[in-house]
Amino acid sequence: MEAYICRTCGVQQAASERPPAACAICDDERQYVPPAGQQWATLAELRSEGRRIVVRDLEPGLTGIGADPPIGIGQRALLVRTPSGNFLWDCLGFIDDEGIAAVRARGGLHGIAMSHPHFYGVCVEWSHAFGGAPIYIPTADREWVMRPDPAIRNWDGTIEPLSGLTLIQCGGHFEGSAALHWSAAGEGRGALLTGDTITVVSDRRFVSFMRSYPNDIPLPASMVRQILAAVAPYRFDRIYGGWWDRVVDHDGPAAIQRSADRYIRWISGGR
Ligand SMILES: [Zn+2]
Ligand SMILES: [Zn+2]
Repeated sequence: MEAYICRTCGVQQAASERPPAACAICDDERQYVPPAGQQWATLAELRSEGRRIVVRDLEPGLTGIGADPPIGIGQRALLVRTPSGNFLWDCLGFIDDEGIAAVRARGGLHGIAMSHPHFYGVCVEWSHAFGGAPIYIPTADREWVMRPDPAIRNWDGTIEPLSGLTLIQCGGHFEGSAALHWSAAGEGRGALLTGDTITVVSDRRFVSFMRSYPNDIPLPASMVRQILAAVAPYRFDRIYGGWWDRVVDHDGPAAIQRSADRYIRWISGGR
């Protein structure tokens, strides 16, 4: 039995004798199956292709974890270090011994959550590498768990998995789409880790909000306002999106507000 990984989204499935017929995440209207058809890989195959985990310290208490070459959507995860433990925000479809050692050298791992199902990756492998660290999945998105595991715990609304870290269910891209607020970031200015819930766009003064990014399906104004309302109570400066270069460096709340204003203006007639 092998837990296959979808090469398009990087999400690992429950173990099976043969590669599954389809990836439910890529069959959904928010993702896609590539022209060559559904393709699967095993972790051993991904390693034998020369892939490795790349780790970069981004600011005090924050480390980025990516794969080179990338897998799936190419996002990087973030390891947040706090006095009460370390938390992995977002995941990717790869893990190796060097990556595990790098996390262990930074104090290990005490919880995992992802912004949304496209970034579930091999979260169960990361959890197992660190003694079954809990994986927090919003109840609203539990149907998107492709590899069930005893480490998975459901949550709703907001929870504080470790002191100083708050998981905020925002909805939008997925009903359970979440952000992670890290209060101690940036010498106490705070940071919001958003993945695709509030995506940092190429013009890093702005963010965006979409039902589907690859298929260009927008969200209604009501859902954009719901996302803004969910993060409004939290103080933060920097916004970390889902990729290495997708970071709003400062004044995050202002970037979110002007982006929402522009977005709603254009989906409401463009004036
Ligand atoms: Zn997939
Ligand atoms: Zn997504």
